[in-house]
Amino acid sequence: MSLVKSVQVAAHRAARLEQVIGDARQARLVRAAERFRARLGERTVWNVSSTAAGGGVAEMLQVLVGYAEDLGVTVGWMVITGDAEFFALTKRLHNQIHGQAAGGPLTAGQAAHYAQVLAANAAELLPRIRPGDLVLLHDPQTAGLAPALATCGARVAWRSHIGVDWENDATRAAWDFLRPYLDAADGYVFSRAQYVPAWVPRRKAWIIPPSIDPFSPKNQDLDGGTVRAILATIGVLEAGAPGGQTAFVRGDGGTGAVTRPAEITGEGRPGPIDPLVVQVSRWDRLKDMPGVMAGFAGHVAPGGSGYLVLAGPAVTGVADDPEGAAVFGECLLAWRDLPAAARARVLLVTLPLEDLDENAAMVNALQRHAAVITQKSLAEGFGLTVAEGMWKARPVVGSAVGGIADQITPGTGILLPDPRDGAAFGAAVRTLLDSPGQASQMGRAAQDHVRANYVGDLHLIRYEQMLTALISEC
Ligand code: UDP
Repeated sequence: MSLVKSVQVAAHRAARLEQVIGDARQARLVRAAERFRARLGERTVWNVSSTAAGGGVAEMLQVLVGYAEDLGVTVGWMVITGDAEFFALTKRLHNQIHGQAAGGPLTAGQAAHYAQVLAANAAELLPRIRPGDLVLLHDPQTAGLAPALATCGARVAWRSHIGVDWENDATRAAWDFLRPYLDAADGYVFSRAQYVPAWVPRRKAWIIPPSIDPFSPKNQDLDGGTVRAILATIGVLEAGAPGGQTAFVRGDGGTGAVTRPAEITGEGRPGPIDPLVVQVSRWDRLKDMPGVMAGFAGHVAPGGSGYLVLAGPAVTGVADDPEGAAVFGECLLAWRDLPAAARARVLLVTLPLEDLDENAAMVNALQRHAAVITQKSLAEGFGLTVAEGMWKARPVVGSAVGGIADQITPGTGILLPDPRDGAAFGAAVRTLLDSPGQASQMGRAAQDHVRANYVGDLHLIRYEQMLTALISEC
């Protein structure tokens, strides 16, 4: 069985972006693609990541690779394979880059395992990549491939989708481990300038914020009836809520329908007009789902209205996220410990991942139905869920950490200076629940802000600039 799998992505018609970004931005995108095709010649742009599903990297690649293909750029996406030990240690690196020391530096044995797994994957990648090809490696899971790929003549850029704006022993330990591999890269991409570690040569550092796709099943317009029907189908809204169509447009343009239920832990179910406070995240400690629950139970539920919905992927579903089941278990324990009155208004939801478009439509419906969206992360590379909520004109309460602080600008949501301050979190949520007028004004400003800053054309143009520089330096 091969370790490296090619991911086939549905074509995404770039021309339709014009409805969202206008003709001037559309024309700029088309010109950039023409220029880039000419520079690229016979070369291929390869993306290499560690999962095709679940989490922000996969979410973006599905879309960007689809648009790039439609724009005539030769682009591929390959996913490596690792075992549980490999993903446990790369998760440690991920947490360290976020400044979390848990587990300490990797042992010599773990370092050897990392090298061994990536050497086996590299052996399968190398025959597919030609000298001069451009390779974008994503995140710590693939960083160790850089020397082998550079040796075979590819131009290699490594993209970190994570980071913090400070350093500590944990971040230094991660970079000390990764740097001997990453020194072989020709370019380094970070979501924010503050994330670039001191050892990266400034002229090789590129800042490319993530983006969302307005037409993906995750973000496309759904009318209110469809939203409610989807939420009733997955079991979030009480049985007896009006039925109806659960249809959405798939990534490949076909029609899909939400048919699978979610797994739900909850005693009560909201009715169709009860306000929902929603956080969608992987089951990751840094997303602080238990903190959201405690903030809601302690500072919103008493005297306030609404239900809290904490939603994430099915816990066995995300291959490169081995902590998911444990963190979900911690959430279950915290939920059981809630005071009875609050517990009746908190739902833990795991969304099936068998059909990724269907999963995305479920997230879409949850975000659209939310009165308030939260992202109370303790650390966050960018926080795509924030842009997704803002795009749906929802007011977002987010921690002032990482990319969330860039996304929520004054008037477009509420930033929490201290992510651990449950009282401030509760007060922000209450303000928005109690003032629907202010909340919807904020939501509209949020949508404009995402349109201006975080739609895929900008992302593709920044990639074009970075990859063109890699070619020029050959
Ligand atoms: N997501 C999803 N299904 C889920 C949970 C999350 O599609 O059940 C998506 C979410 O909508 C977002 C991505 O996973 O697009 C998470 O990206 P983010 O940048 O917020 O965090 P990351 O997981 O990359 O740390």
